[in-house]
Amino acid sequence: MLWKIQNGQSSFWWDNWTGHGAIATYCPKYVHSIKTKVSYFILDKEWDIQRLVEILPDWLLQHVTPIKIGSETKQDYLIWKPATDGIFTNKEAWNDIREHRQKDLLINKAWHKNIPFKVSFLTWRLIKSKLPFTNNSVCRFVDMLVDCLCCANAQPETIQHFFMESEPAQFLWKLFGQPLGIKYRVKVVKVFLTEWWLTKRNNGVHKMIIHITPIIICWVMWKTDVRVDMETKGSSIGGAWNSKLNEF
Ligand SMILES: [Zn+2]
Repeated sequence: MLWKIQNGQSSFWWDNWTGHGAIATYCPKYVHSIKTKVSYFILDKEWDIQRLVEILPDWLLQHVTPIKIGSETKQDYLIWKPATDGIFTNKEAWNDIREHRQKDLLINKAWHKNIPFKVSFLTWRLIKSKLPFTNNSVCRFVDMLVDCLCCANAQPETIQHFFMESEPAQFLWKLFGQPLGIKYRVKVVKVFLTEWWLTKRNNGVHKMIIHITPIIICWVMWKTDVRVDMETKGSSIGGAWNSKLNEF
């Protein structure tokens, strides 16, 4: 369900008025009062960019600013998002809940109050398939690589390969998963992450470790770009990886 903004009486942090659910999740630094209205960020029937810039991450700001503001004399109203005419049906409700439950879980789990924004943002981009790989529309490198450089037997470099199936990925998922009782099996990376985050937690510490470990693993993989090392140090792929992994 999506709130269409008119007089902006919807809750800024907690109502789904951007299409991304409660945006409180994305702005962990702020106090999320239920009383903060969307209207606080509207000035003369336009978005008050100055106020929004201060609190929203860039990617969210880009989603918010094109949102149309309706008549200020009318109440905000709910529409049923998946149906093109905005009218609710049971079938669409069921499909929406089923498909979005997993997506929402993943997106929420990408963020944690103790993890820096850019680190979480990488996981968010991974979940949203917004990383430049061959199977996406944007290329990671100008001279487009078809084969990966992370494995002894080169494979096509896709998100799935890089974060799930590559030798470094397998190594890291096993290294950190095993002590947590999480078995590594090749799965679609989003399914693997969902199952990881749904693992039974025994206590607060265990819960936090299960939450943040995949975010850090993805970040390490992304930052440990073997190509950079090979260029700067002239070392082999295996050597570059080993030296990175020894930093743990
Ligand atoms: Zn590889």
